[in-house]
Amino acid sequence: MYMYNTQPIKHQLQFDQMASFQWLGFGNQYQCSLRFSEFRSKKISAGSYNIRCEGRDYLGLDDQERDGKKRLRILIAGGGVGGLVLALAAKNRGYEVKVFERDLSAVRGEGRHRGPIQLLSSALAVLEAIDKDVARQIVEAGCITGNRINGLADGLSGEWFTKFDLLTPAVSRGLPITQVICRIALQDILVNAVGQDIVSNNSKVVDFVEDSNKVKIILEDGRQYEGDVLVGADGIRSKVRSKLFGAKPANYSNYTCYSGLTNFVPPYIDTVGYRVFLGLNQYFVASDVGRGKMQWYAFHKEAPMNDDPPRGKKVRLLELFGSWCSEVVTLISETPEDMILQRNIYDRDMIYSWGIGRVTLLGDAAHPMQPNLGQGGCMAIEDCYQLILELDKVAESGSGVCLSNEIVSALKRYEKKRMVRVSVVHTMSRMASKMLASYRPFMDFGSGPLSHLSTWQLRHPAIPVARIFLQIFLPQYMIWMIAGHGLW
Ligand SMILES: Cc1cc2nc3c(=O)[nH]c(=O)nc-3n(C[C@H](O)[C@H](O)[C@H](O)COP(=O)(O)OP(=O)(O)OC[C@H]3O[C@@H](n4cnc5c(N)ncnc54)[C@H](O)[C@@H]3O)c2cc1C
Repeated sequence: MYMYNTQPIKHQLQFDQMASFQWLGFGNQYQCSLRFSEFRSKKISAGSYNIRCEGRDYLGLDDQERDGKKRLRILIAGGGVGGLVLALAAKNRGYEVKVFERDLSAVRGEGRHRGPIQLLSSALAVLEAIDKDVARQIVEAGCITGNRINGLADGLSGEWFTKFDLLTPAVSRGLPITQVICRIALQDILVNAVGQDIVSNNSKVVDFVEDSNKVKIILEDGRQYEGDVLVGADGIRSKVRSKLFGAKPANYSNYTCYSGLTNFVPPYIDTVGYRVFLGLNQYFVASDVGRGKMQWYAFHKEAPMNDDPPRGKKVRLLELFGSWCSEVVTLISETPEDMILQRNIYDRDMIYSWGIGRVTLLGDAAHPMQPNLGQGGCMAIEDCYQLILELDKVAESGSGVCLSNEIVSALKRYEKKRMVRVSVVHTMSRMASKMLASYRPFMDFGSGPLSHLSTWQLRHPAIPVARIFLQIFLPQYMIWMIAGHGLW
């Protein structure tokens, strides 16, 4: 039978259960190095949240029509995190789904540039709602950072500026705890779960054609596929978006980002998850990524760079960050030159319509944002779930054929329900980039007659004000980020 469970079910994830995920230890290479056991014995009264019931019940139902209802055929351009999570959700519901990915192996290079990905509690909860088994594998492969101290610090002194609590808002709501996971490990888990038959590699989407009954996708090698819905999950330089809304260059953020992965494990690893070191026109993010490795990102305000610095990236970084605290200098120094990469950071202005007709966008194709809050991938995952919930309504009501206008309405509902949250996160990501790099701990008296006062290192009066503001505002923002996914 074609079964959709449309009733919200009460889902309670005890913290004990999450802890046990952590320790199942599938022998995965990306094991977390945390002392997590201290949390296991605690009996935490987890909150609850409503999710729709999904799961493998949908599998094995391969008739085109069941109960007189046509199976939706979903075409997905792009097999990044967004495309794969959507495909998983669609497959688990028995939809006919196909992912067209230009080059699956690109994540091996790209993943190095972008480093591991932080998955916030909200995104992990969505993954659980989509597929519990896959969510468990992701938790096991990742490294939990949300149960340690995370926050902002002064780049010069290394002293904490403000700290974030990622744990309490998650635990009190029974949500999984924020973690990081290697992009390649994440891709492997998702591709395995979705299946090679659904993910078509070496399939570059170059065009699509839509009429009132269907949409047809056209690949570079001439292959064509028809479906009821096309989702452009093809990233910041989305072909689908260009065709829908015209090709426009992405905005350079004014920052280039060096990233490094090092085997150096700092002594504070058991207590600190990640730390963002602040400075003027530059900032530095250091995160534990498990398995005895640290990932760091050094953001520096400059024109886009297309070539390596003449004396190498490490020398350049030590010029830029050499006077910073020992944590930063040591992390750079302990990273081999060939493990340091550089990329220019781009985003796009928000657009407030993500689709036309049977075609919509998701993730970076719809709303690419700056990476400083680590939210682009999480937003893509949340998009997937909202989109599938709206498509479920089409499948539930469609008799015989999925009416075109029902599909169009579902896609419009999806973007409407996602727009506010995504817009806030997009704006915050831009603001964060400005704020993080305008940090000036001491007064600067310029080169005039008072220039000698600069050597006195007088505390900048804006710093305590900024700290109070952040101490009030950040916890609220974090709670909203962690728990306020606003889905279903
Ligand atoms: C330095 C850095 C750090 C980041 N850290 C985090 C983080 O910690 N947490 C977080 O949530 N986000 C983070 N992000 C953002 C995150 O990487 C993106 O938001 C996320 O990858 C978006 O997923 P997506 O599936 O929409 O797009 P992508 O991951 O870009 O996937 C798009 C896919 O489409 C494919 N594709 C492109 N064109 C075509 C075509 N024509 N035909 C077929 N396939 C095509 C590409 O090969 C790719 O596989 C970071 C970004 C950067 C740059």
